[in-house]
Amino acid sequence: MECVRIGCSRAGARPDVGDNGRVTLYRDEGVVLRTQKLGEADRIVTVLTRRSGRIRAAAKGVRKTKSRFGARLEPFTHVDLQLYERRSLDLITQAETLRPYGERLVVDYPRYTAGTAMLETAEKLTAAEREPALRQFLLLVGGLRTLADGSHDPRLVLDAFLLRSLSVAGWAPALDECSRCGDRGQLRGFSIAGGGAMCARCRQPGTATPAPPTFALMLALLRGEWDYADDSEQRHRVECSGLVAAYLQWHLEHGIRSLRHVERDTGTREHREVAAETARARPGAPDASGGGAGGGYGDGDFDVDGYGPDDPAGPGGTTDRETV
Ligand SMILES: [Zn+2]
Repeated sequence: MECVRIGCSRAGARPDVGDNGRVTLYRDEGVVLRTQKLGEADRIVTVLTRRSGRIRAAAKGVRKTKSRFGARLEPFTHVDLQLYERRSLDLITQAETLRPYGERLVVDYPRYTAGTAMLETAEKLTAAEREPALRQFLLLVGGLRTLADGSHDPRLVLDAFLLRSLSVAGWAPALDECSRCGDRGQLRGFSIAGGGAMCARCRQPGTATPAPPTFALMLALLRGEWDYADDSEQRHRVECSGLVAAYLQWHLEHGIRSLRHVERDTGTREHREVAAETARARPGAPDASGGGAGGGYGDGDFDVDGYGPDDPAGPGGTTDRETV
């Protein structure tokens, strides 16, 4: 963050005071999550930034056709911003496109809906404004990049993003051990309310019973093991998507609306079963013994930006080119 002094004639003014002629400008990069109309020609832009977490800022005149940076402030765009700090909404004074992910996504419906669900999830999981959320930011950039480059099934990319986002939020589901007793033997059920996988002894009637390869697929997506995920069968992908969506919806107070569009494409009996379990589980609190929160995935084996081995725009690439 830098302070730029503009038109201040008072010597010795306190550097942190914004009302006496000092203007505080700062730079940050971020992904545009959402825009809303503001007045005649302006917009409020919601951005998940690298350093400041989720922010909402005003962009003046961007709805005029000749706007310089209107197009740079559309959802999905990874932008480098300069902002003017104000008491209410900060004002965006400059925007430079780092990666226009939206261009690649809007022309492909499955990728677009998956991307939209990612943006919405990132917003919901960063509940408080201006609370740094670096891991969530890196996940989002990595997820959009992978989605845009088209190297994997968009639904797999979305599910990997959702599972990792849940992990970052502290809600990783148990996948390779029973969420109740910790047994790593044969896992039979998946309990949305109970924190994930359950062994035959702990499994309660009515919980979903995914196929073993579905557990393996979820684990592979969480860990970024794409060789395994890319070889998975369609039925296991569908089952995985249903469980991940239900698990996410259960953890968020006001679900992810855009997931409905994604699910419509793969809606099956499994989805309905899981949805029914979610509906039943909803009224109560999660089982206190459910060990799903930790899930056994520490920072060490969780690469937040690891969507693929070749990461040209990873933290060492263009996304990091700005240094303030
Ligand atoms: Zn058990």
